[in-house]
Amino acid sequence: MPTLKFAVLPGDYIGPEVMTEALRVLDLVARQEGFSLDYTIADVGGAGIDRHGKALPDSTLKLCEQADAILFGSVGGPKWEKLPPKEQPERAALLPLRKHFTLFANIRPGLLYRELTDASPLKSERIPDGIDIVCIRELTGGLYFGQPKTTTKLEDGDELSVDTMVYRRSEIERILRTAIDTARSRKKKLCSIDKANVLETSVLWRRTATEYVAKQAPDIELSHMYVDNAAMQLVRSPNQFDVFVTENMFGDILSDEMACVCGSLGMLSSASLGAGKNSLGLPFGLFEPAGGTAPDIAGKGIANPCAQILSVALMLRYSFGLEKTAARIESAVRKAVSSGTRTSDISFGKTSVGTKAMTDAIIASL
Ligand code: NAD
Repeated sequence: MPTLKFAVLPGDYIGPEVMTEALRVLDLVARQEGFSLDYTIADVGGAGIDRHGKALPDSTLKLCEQADAILFGSVGGPKWEKLPPKEQPERAALLPLRKHFTLFANIRPGLLYRELTDASPLKSERIPDGIDIVCIRELTGGLYFGQPKTTTKLEDGDELSVDTMVYRRSEIERILRTAIDTARSRKKKLCSIDKANVLETSVLWRRTATEYVAKQAPDIELSHMYVDNAAMQLVRSPNQFDVFVTENMFGDILSDEMACVCGSLGMLSSASLGAGKNSLGLPFGLFEPAGGTAPDIAGKGIANPCAQILSVALMLRYSFGLEKTAARIESAVRKAVSSGTRTSDISFGKTSVGTKAMTDAIIASL
């Protein structure tokens, strides 16, 4: 059995609380299935600033470079909000990690169990079987990384800011490969979302998607949708999508909208896969909850640990090839919430329990 070597970066506020629970689950499945864990916990985000003067300390980055995957919590919060934008935890830790490891493919399952449809803001009759879709977001290109990115004071006293949206065909093809693989593992349906009626990058995006899928994946049913319509369709009828793929900023917005219709941020996780392979020949990746550090509930012992636990499952699936173990954890989470064990963010009148009791219920199903 392999040894799983990964870096653990819990981050700030509820980050360490839910990470402790995720490691409890992972320690148990490792004992049950006979594989060994080789992980080191390191500071990142506000914790990095406080203890090392930097959101992404050099020692943390080195640890990640030596690992096969990164299990990430979440970073940021009011304590560091007064810092200059470039030094703030998210911008100074998460974006450099994405860039450093070329984590170009963000895979976000949008999953709402049938048993939890009452947690969604959508009417239950619109989603009688819950929601089960996947958002694939390009993560290292587009408006967030394109240069120039400047703010200039003009001679007439006005100010001018520029962000640049850039895509190369090769970057689009790279994210399409991830989307095609994901579609192949599901219903073989892929919707590509762009704004090709207005943006040059989107014209290239749409043309590349059409040509690439026709040539490389004729078994995939490809459709296209403008992003404004997609935003509407996601709330009208989310399950019309099975897998959708889109560029960085559109994906940022649509994935949060998807999280909202899925009811609870505390239930959603994501995988960001890199261009490089780890020592096992599998994709190096960063795995994290979809939500942030939830400062409003930190320290109260009520944060939902499910998203962090489900990000462990994604790590096992993508970076360690342990599909059966991943599925076992996902099924234990489902059993726990379906049997009525719910934290406050998904309780909706049902008995709500704290972080540890939620994990205990998951562990009892393993
Ligand atoms: P948030 O996701 O932290 O919280 C939004 C709401 O969802 C809050 O009411 C919170 O209590 C709730 N929530 C989130 N996760 C939950 C969980 N596991 N269990 C129960 N409830 C949960 O978003 P925010 O308030 O906009 O941001 C707080 C901080 O987190 C900010 O500093 C932001 O920059 C940071 N952030 C970090 C990441 C990341 O590290 N990837 C992502 C988003 C936000």
